Amino acid sequence: MQKYVCDICGYMYDPKLGDPDNEINPGTAFEDLPDDWICPLCGVDKDDFSLED
Ligand SMILES: [Zn+2]
Repeated sequence: MQKYVCDICGYMYDPKLGDPDNEINPGTAFEDLPDDWICPLCGVDKDDFSLED
Protein backbone atom coordinates (compact mmCIF):
# COMPACT_ATOMS: atom_id res chain seq x y z
CA MET A 1 0.00 0.00 0.00
CA GLN A 2 1.18 3.47 -0.89
CA LYS A 3 1.73 6.45 1.37
CA TYR A 4 0.09 9.75 0.40
CA VAL A 5 1.18 13.27 1.32
CA CYS A 6 -1.00 16.34 1.84
CA ASP A 7 -0.10 18.97 -0.74
CA ILE A 8 -0.99 21.76 1.66
CA CYS A 9 0.64 20.91 4.99
CA GLY A 10 2.86 17.90 4.32
CA TYR A 11 0.98 15.43 6.55
CA MET A 12 1.69 11.88 5.42
CA TYR A 13 -1.03 9.23 5.43
CA ASP A 14 0.62 5.88 6.15
CA PRO A 15 -1.75 2.93 5.53
CA LYS A 16 0.15 0.85 8.08
CA LEU A 17 -0.82 3.35 10.78
CA GLY A 18 -4.21 4.47 9.53
CA ASP A 19 -5.70 7.47 11.34
CA PRO A 20 -6.92 6.13 14.68
CA ASP A 21 -7.94 9.58 15.93
CA ASN A 22 -10.53 9.60 13.13
CA GLU A 23 -11.59 5.95 13.43
CA ILE A 24 -9.46 4.77 10.50
CA ASN A 25 -7.98 1.39 11.38
CA PRO A 26 -4.34 0.53 10.67
CA GLY A 27 -4.12 -1.29 7.34
CA THR A 28 -6.63 0.95 5.53
CA ALA A 29 -5.42 1.89 2.03
CA PHE A 30 -5.74 5.54 1.04
CA GLU A 31 -8.13 4.51 -1.71
CA ASP A 32 -10.38 2.91 0.90
CA LEU A 33 -10.66 5.97 3.12
CA PRO A 34 -14.21 7.36 3.25
CA ASP A 35 -14.88 10.17 0.79
CA ASP A 36 -15.47 12.55 3.68
CA TRP A 37 -12.11 11.85 5.27
CA ILE A 38 -10.05 15.03 5.58
CA CYS A 39 -6.45 15.83 6.43
CA PRO A 40 -6.21 15.62 10.23
CA LEU A 41 -3.86 18.61 10.32
CA CYS A 42 -5.24 21.15 7.86
CA GLY A 43 -8.69 19.84 6.90
CA VAL A 44 -8.39 19.58 3.11
CA ASP A 45 -10.07 16.67 1.39
CA LYS A 46 -8.55 13.66 -0.37
CA ASP A 47 -8.22 15.51 -3.69
CA ASP A 48 -5.39 17.53 -2.21
CA PHE A 49 -3.22 14.49 -1.48
CA SER A 50 -0.52 13.13 -3.78
CA LEU A 51 1.27 9.81 -3.94
CA GLU A 52 4.53 9.90 -2.03
CA ASP A 53 7.47 9.56 -4.42
ZN1 LIG B 1 -2.95 18.77 5.31
